[in-house]
Amino acid sequence: MPTLPPLAWAVAIAALVMGILAGHFGWGRHLSRRGGAGGPGRFSKLHPDYLAGLDYLVTEQPDRALDMFLKLMDANSETLETHFALGSLYRRRGEVERAIRIHQNLLGRDSLAPEHREQALLALAHDYLRAGLLDRAEGLFLKVCEVPRLRAGALDSLRGVYERQLEWEQALDVYRRLARIKAAPPRFVAAHYLCELATLALERGDIDGARRMLGEARREVPGFARAAVLRARIAERAGDPALAARLLRFALHEAPQLMHEELPPLLRLVGAAGRDRLLGELVERAAAGTHADDELKRLVLAAISAGLADAAPLQAPIEGVFARDATLRAFGQGEARLMAAQLGVLLESAEKYRCGECGFAGRNFYWHCPACRSWGSFEACALVKLG
Ligand SMILES: [Zn+2]
Repeated sequence: MPTLPPLAWAVAIAALVMGILAGHFGWGRHLSRRGGAGGPGRFSKLHPDYLAGLDYLVTEQPDRALDMFLKLMDANSETLETHFALGSLYRRRGEVERAIRIHQNLLGRDSLAPEHREQALLALAHDYLRAGLLDRAEGLFLKVCEVPRLRAGALDSLRGVYERQLEWEQALDVYRRLARIKAAPPRFVAAHYLCELATLALERGDIDGARRMLGEARREVPGFARAAVLRARIAERAGDPALAARLLRFALHEAPQLMHEELPPLLRLVGAAGRDRLLGELVERAAAGTHADDELKRLVLAAISAGLADAAPLQAPIEGVFARDATLRAFGQGEARLMAAQLGVLLESAEKYRCGECGFAGRNFYWHCPACRSWGSFEACALVKLG
């Protein structure tokens, strides 16, 4: 988001206020009567509040300047756009309290036309959202949803409010309303809401409820990897490790970026006896893929992180990945197995995941990025850092 340097901002505000005041006091007419020339005594006709307002600006008292602006400026049809533009500018700069004052000032005027009142309500709702006042934002977005021309935008913002409040049922309900007016985001978003609900159901021991939600998620997106992961958890709890392992294999096939997260539980499910067979199968599948080098590197790094640098089926892939990757070659010389073990120690303390949308990185995996709120954008970041 671009930000203006303080001086440019002060100049912009001064120009805006001067333009508005010019309209307010009819300076244009005033000057044209004098032939456009500034004669002596020109400023003596000015409203004293104008000079005081400018004084506040130049002495950097923006709140008092804003007071002056709000006091002097009539919210008529000519100046309304200026109100909205100024409010939006303040919000974008993060000066939300000032944006809120401007929009509340507009709403306090009885003469405001209904369509402008609705626009001001929507703007105020966005101010509250930006300020983190989610309950107030929710109330206003709900009101604005009643206005057909603003409905789609208000509903989508409301969906964002419920996501931030972790109110998944309400988020899903709003998603369905958006779908009815053909303004919904992609269906995987609804599938994620259903997986969030299934996770909550699992936490309270409601297995049937969780299964129902996951069934719905799969109807939204057939073969949804996150739903397969959760079904694997249910199967494991129900004492069916073979089914759980099958479901995790399927999830890794659908979403290879889950390798880092899901390889350890899959290894636990197949046990020591099934380990090498599983790894052999994963190596074979990665090598057969269209992006074989990337897939093998992903598998090798996930396996090294899981402490499998010694596993027999991984020796050839580890050597191959180290030989092909300049960064990994620079990591050291010698036997690939030993280098892999050292790399495993290094990875222990590294940030493991990164959002592919905004670059937010951390040690934890999220389905929903806490920074940019994208869904399913996290990936093991060692792939990025070392690749
Ligand atoms: Zn992000």
